[in-house]
Amino acid sequence: MMNVFATSIVLLLAGGLVAAMVFMIRLSTDDSDKHPEIKQFVTALFGGAASPVQADPAASGQQESAAARDALSEEPFTEPCPACGDPVTHQHVECPSCGLRLI
Ligand SMILES: [Zn+2]
Repeated sequence: MMNVFATSIVLLLAGGLVAAMVFMIRLSTDDSDKHPEIKQFVTALFGGAASPVQADPAASGQQESAAARDALSEEPFTEPCPACGDPVTHQHVECPSCGLRLI
């Protein structure tokens, strides 16, 4: 008896969640201009993290500062040496081929 009651409650909650999600998705797709905050929320829910710049057009102007931050951080990277074109990584203080100081 209690199991049936609990199951129906869970089903009700799940159905309500799905209905709310469908409602938000419809809002975000139908009137994207009128509900930017909901669109952002939905975008964040469904893989928006992969394209945060698309989710917020105003953030595109901050791409340069973000790139500068990445250059300063210790994140691993591999890119061609600006002088000789040989691949250098974050571990190289100087280019191993031509000796250009990288940091
Ligand atoms: Zn070099």
